Amino acid sequence: MSEWYMEMARRRQRIVKHWIKFLVGVGLVVLALVLVAGCATTKAPKDDVVMIEINPPAQSGPQVFVTNSSHEWMIAMSKIADCVVKLPEVKAEIATFESFEWTEDSGGQVAAKIGSKQSEVKEYTTNRAVSIFRRVWPGFGTVNAYTTKASTDIYYNTRAVARSLKDKVGTICHEHAHVLGYDHGGNGSHTTGVPAALGDICMKHIGRCL
Ligand SMILES: [Zn+2]
Repeated sequence: MSEWYMEMARRRQRIVKHWIKFLVGVGLVVLALVLVAGCATTKAPKDDVVMIEINPPAQSGPQVFVTNSSHEWMIAMSKIADCVVKLPEVKAEIATFESFEWTEDSGGQVAAKIGSKQSEVKEYTTNRAVSIFRRVWPGFGTVNAYTTKASTDIYYNTRAVARSLKDKVGTICHEHAHVLGYDHGGNGSHTTGVPAALGDICMKHIGRCL
């Protein structure tokens, strides 16, 4: 009887040893995979270190847009907007407007004012909850950028980064018109007045500055 028990005990021991070896083996394979994945992750380039190489052609005249931001995309946006807003084509095109809503100035007068006030492009950040809600309802609660009547600063929303460079530059030109004192009807549509016209014209000619 005891002989049989001993045999069973030895068998159980062998089975336990077998399982321990199996589990250690599986553990080692999992560990190896985790390490490989870890190395792969650290080697992959991160989005925020991708440099935006831009070299817009120099335009004559003093700098219209400067920025205190350290975001590469914000620096690129400001540099390109600075190039675009100074293009002779942009001034020539806005000069063809006989009149605008919300101002007595003619197109020629607007063209002469472009760039007359330097604007600093600064960052602002809407809170995360608003941004998440905005993905579902794009018009909700916040704007891409704004200006205040008291200063020449342009505040660009750092959460409005997932827009094309063209759209961003259009926004900066739009805000520059506000800095120059031009307004538009209703804050929602942005389709009237000098700001809308200048924004559209900048977007149209951005190709000259890329
Ligand atoms: Zn506006």
